[in-house]
Amino acid sequence: MDKKNIDWSNLGFGYIKTDKRYVAMFKDGAWDEGKLIDDDMITMSECACVLQYAQTIFEGLKAYTTEKGDTVVFRPDLNAERLANSSRRMEMPVFPEDKFIDAVEQVVRANKAYVPPYGTGATLYLRPFMFGSNPVIGVKPADEFQFRIFCTPVGPYFKGGAKPITIKVSDFDRAAPHGTGYIKAGLNYAMSLHAIVTAHHEGFDENMYLDAGSRTKVEETGGANFLFVTKDGKVVTPKSNSILPSITRRSLMIVAKEYLGLEVEEREVYFDEVKDFAECGLCGTAAVISPVGKIYDHGNEICFPSGMAEMGPITKQLYDTLTGIQMGRIEDRFGWVRVID
Ligand SMILES: *Cc1c(COP(=O)(O)O)cnc(C)c1O
Repeated sequence: MDKKNIDWSNLGFGYIKTDKRYVAMFKDGAWDEGKLIDDDMITMSECACVLQYAQTIFEGLKAYTTEKGDTVVFRPDLNAERLANSSRRMEMPVFPEDKFIDAVEQVVRANKAYVPPYGTGATLYLRPFMFGSNPVIGVKPADEFQFRIFCTPVGPYFKGGAKPITIKVSDFDRAAPHGTGYIKAGLNYAMSLHAIVTAHHEGFDENMYLDAGSRTKVEETGGANFLFVTKDGKVVTPKSNSILPSITRRSLMIVAKEYLGLEVEEREVYFDEVKDFAECGLCGTAAVISPVGKIYDHGNEICFPSGMAEMGPITKQLYDTLTGIQMGRIEDRFGWVRVID
């Protein structure tokens, strides 16, 4: 198939409308068949539950072209499972996990001309989401829902190499204990907007959120999990019931152990220990890993030995191995990469 005439390497991270999107409707207690449509606009009641009470959840994953020229997606089964977990917490109907994967494939196939070629660093970002669509004024869940997937081509996350970022310890909380931090819901992002705008205004790239209960333990940023590397080369990631289980982070922990032979630990990480780590990175679908060079905490700075010029050596190995598996340059030992023909 001919690719669209897009300057792939100079694409940013913005919305570009593509040809087809998927929609399935839930009504009278059941999902319909679901289909691809052309129309990118949604019409619904002004009183729709999503607009009044924010009953909406989402996912994010990427399709890309491998070295061999295959079009692939990475571990979509985990997105399907995570969306199902988000649905349960939000009183929304579960979209069947096998149908989720089928819908992802349909969207990628129908928009193959927008899947960036290998070597450009660009990818096709897929956004599955679900929302309560019927009018609700008394507070209760909707009983009609839409599940949709659209996609948009996005540019390379790091243009000209991954430069370490500076983050600040936020004075705001991201997620309450026993709250919704572990699901991928728009509501977690709505309340983070003021915090990120504030951090940017102060000259920081991101927020580090601590646990809302005691403010002593590291949670995550607004949209990425932390990985740390100890001075003796162990990979450590925070364990908490209020962080979103990143598929990238879970994959990197397996890469660390099984591909690189490193020791790995998922455990509570006290902010007090952070100064003793050698490397720090943020994990998520968008960047895979963004290296963190510096953390600002109310007048004190933590500067990681890896510095502000480049990724730390173990972070780099993790990054190169996972992106190598994704791009088909390194053997996919665990069946993570799904080819869409
Ligand atoms: C989506 C998300 C992540 C990253 O998850 P991936 O599955 O790796 O993309 C991390 N934290 C939050 C809060 C998120 O919403």
